Amino acid sequence: MAGAPASRLSRAAVAASPWTDRMSVPSDIAAARAAVLDRIAQAATASGRAPESITLTAVSKLQPDDRVEAMLATGQRIFGENRVQEAEARWRERRARYSDLHLRLIGPLQSNKAADAVAFFDAIESLDRSKLVAVLAVEVQKQGRSPEFLIQVNTGEEAQKAGIAPREADAFIKAARETYGLPVRGLMCIPPVDEEPAMHFALLAKIAARNDLPILSMGMSDDFETAIRFGATHVRVGSALFGARP
Ligand SMILES: *Cc1c(COP(=O)(O)O)cnc(C)c1O
Repeated sequence: MAGAPASRLSRAAVAASPWTDRMSVPSDIAAARAAVLDRIAQAATASGRAPESITLTAVSKLQPDDRVEAMLATGQRIFGENRVQEAEARWRERRARYSDLHLRLIGPLQSNKAADAVAFFDAIESLDRSKLVAVLAVEVQKQGRSPEFLIQVNTGEEAQKAGIAPREADAFIKAARETYGLPVRGLMCIPPVDEEPAMHFALLAKIAARNDLPILSMGMSDDFETAIRFGATHVRVGSALFGARP
């Protein structure tokens, strides 16, 4: 998965955001967010869905502090991070200031960080192996705290990408629920950079539907409107909101 986010920052995404030439003007964050929310609303309406049924996760990984502060000033409270330690450094103190903050882990989770992740995050979107599910289940019991859990599906079956293979997803979901007693709520995917994302979103939606999973985290700066068309409930948008990651 390392490398995917940067390469997904296509020319199209940059051109569609107001960041093209001015990379670090925090006052433009509000305009960027308004534009993304507007595009979400239009995509939802075009599919006969309520705009409020789609959650915008602002992916703040690697973004400088002034941009994060500017985003908080717009009222945005749902943020995505892909590393536990980086998230703790950025958000631990801000948590005290913003009681309604909602933090989602969207990157791979090592088993030895599972306890920290359960303690810190409101959602963990990257369940990708049995050992991790087992460790998380123990932590949920121990801490009496349960984030929202999503299973990552490697829809493109890419060797370098995390996630459960599509043909193994049903059995994995069942085991997470029944063997480990973990309350899985949905699925997440990151389509291959060089493929049409629509078929990957359709596949994820199909697996979620047949397993009664209500949450679908799919769509990034480049393709969130397509994802909404295929049923995304959560879109994870970084560069179109904050500008390119330094
Ligand atoms: C970085 C990242 C994003 C955001 O990517 P952008 O193209 O900047 O919108 C979304 N999801 C995951 C899992 C990521 O790692």
